[in-house]
Amino acid sequence: MSAVPSLARWRPWLGVAMLAVPLAVIALAAYVFLGRAPQGTVTNALIALVAVVAIGVFTGNSGVVSFGHVAFMGVAAHISALLTMSPALKASVLPDLPAALAAVEIGFAASLVVTTALVSLFALAIGLAIARLGGAAAAIATLGVLIIVHTILVGARDFTRGSQALYGVPQAVDILVALPIAIAAIAVGRWYRDSMAGLELRASREDEPAAQSIGVDVATRRLGAWVLSAALASVAGVLVAHNLGVFSPREFYFTQTFMFLVMLIVGGMSTVSGAVIGTVLVTALVEVLRRVEEGPQILGIELPQVFGLTTIGLGVAIVVVLIWRREGLTGYREVDEYLPWRPQAAGAARGEAPADRADPPAADAALAVDRLNKVFGGLVALDGAGIILRPGEIVGLIGPNGSGKTTLLSCIAGAQPPTEGHVLIDGIDATAWPAHRVARAGVGRTFQNIRLFGNLTALDNVRVAMAAGGRVRQRAENTRRALALLADLGLADSAGRPAATLAYGQQRRLEIARALALAPRYLLLDEPAAGMNETESDALLTTLAGLRRHHGLGLLVVDHDLRLMMRLCDRIVVLNKGQVIATGAPVAVQTDPAVIEAYLGSRRAAGDDKTRAAGHGHRTGGVQT
Ligand code: ADP
Ligand code: MG
Repeated sequence: MSAVPSLARWRPWLGVAMLAVPLAVIALAAYVFLGRAPQGTVTNALIALVAVVAIGVFTGNSGVVSFGHVAFMGVAAHISALLTMSPALKASVLPDLPAALAAVEIGFAASLVVTTALVSLFALAIGLAIARLGGAAAAIATLGVLIIVHTILVGARDFTRGSQALYGVPQAVDILVALPIAIAAIAVGRWYRDSMAGLELRASREDEPAAQSIGVDVATRRLGAWVLSAALASVAGVLVAHNLGVFSPREFYFTQTFMFLVMLIVGGMSTVSGAVIGTVLVTALVEVLRRVEEGPQILGIELPQVFGLTTIGLGVAIVVVLIWRREGLTGYREVDEYLPWRPQAAGAARGEAPADRADPPAADAALAVDRLNKVFGGLVALDGAGIILRPGEIVGLIGPNGSGKTTLLSCIAGAQPPTEGHVLIDGIDATAWPAHRVARAGVGRTFQNIRLFGNLTALDNVRVAMAAGGRVRQRAENTRRALALLADLGLADSAGRPAATLAYGQQRRLEIARALALAPRYLLLDEPAAGMNETESDALLTTLAGLRRHHGLGLLVVDHDLRLMMRLCDRIVVLNKGQVIATGAPVAVQTDPAVIEAYLGSRRAAGDDKTRAAGHGHRTGGVQT
């Protein structure tokens, strides 16, 4: 059993080799057998590869398209030029340089290190703002970075010669220099993607609120990837500067950005393999199209020049690939992940994995919600709601549709800030905490509308929660426990499948497994039995009761299935229009006139046929759901 995780640990390096070896063969063959011009093409492709992997580290893992990385390349190219040109040359090419800079002269390797450090700091400063944004807003912000940096490079004539070409930069790059750097970039990209930090970022790409609910600090993870990817982009920029020794700010702008994004999108931006394959294919395509664009001679007949063919061809390539395979050629899997070699739960000991929080709860431990108000615009969703949940206790939260149950769970979990009131986790005020902090403090949750990391495997869904929640970061141990947890919830055979491909009931259980990976003391379940048939919800009941028995978990369960709630819960809290109208033992609550009135009232208002999500209609005493 323990052999499986340790094998899995080596697989990413196999993936790196699967990319690096063919790449090295092609590049070295070009070095040995081809002339100067085609060698230059190969060198350029290797540099592009570094740039595309760089963009992929951020864009692929975070899901935020970056238009800004070419700006980092431009900054790096100019810094490295200033650091490496001889003082004599600088005196003639850049006569207005400040004296301190004019006197500097270091070698290519030293400049690579110094420049990359400087660009990383620059990226960190910008990233502090951008990492807080998500989605389109972040993408637009990166576009702003590109435009602003370009304007500055053109404007800072004393340093860059403005829109004129800067020449005389020491040439130090050929295939033999670019190849090992490209391979190193592939290795770094792959290492990051498969690291726990990378997995956390990929989880946030799939579903940000869900990632936060398992303890992922999304902004921090984005910032880390942003700086790492800017550092790689900086390396690419330095290579550009020292490849031909001549360049201008114009080269680090939209055309180049477009080219790199085409490479990334065609190959598949979620993987390092995609970056490599996309770069190679698009480079080949561009070479062919350029020949045609220049009006080639075929069998002695001169063909006409086709202006703009290369750009048009790239556009067509993107459209064709996106129609045929929306996620790019490699999809969500690295080359090695296409090999039939999957982690299996076989042999994973059941019952050892979840909620093993060893420390017994303090006598006064509780999750306490005190007079919570939540107003959306004018609408009062919660109106002074209060609840207490102790470890080892199962509390049911019921109420008509729209009574505020989901809102209450979200406010507790930190997904939404309450307008007024307090949430205390074991006596500590957690009202203003962000969701990831609440999760790390031991409060897990599931969502009414299932929120899984659809393109990650079931195993990774659980592994990432174990790591992000701060439970088990050590990789082999993490995988072992995650497999055991999946086995506990009857998902052993699905460990290697993408979560989105699981059946509905399995997805519900996977969401619970993921929440349990936090080893929470309190677990908030929003309609876990919705959409399940009677057999499935009975199995769920057994699972939930087992959690309480074995791990002393406090469970707050929202569900419309009263049959399940009556059997499962120690206590039931009834919410109506954001107010708690009854609390007590299931039997007592069922016959409470206020509760009956709330349900009947809402039924009348809803025209008596409001279908419940679960589709159940069990008559249990006075309250019908
Ligand atoms: P329940 O889970 O009990 O069905 P909810 O908590 O989902 O109820 O909703 C309570 C009330 O708050 C409803 O009237 C709903 O329309 C409103 N509401 C919930 N979330 C939002 C939101 N993000 N923005 C505006 N109104 C909301
Ligand atoms: Mg709800």
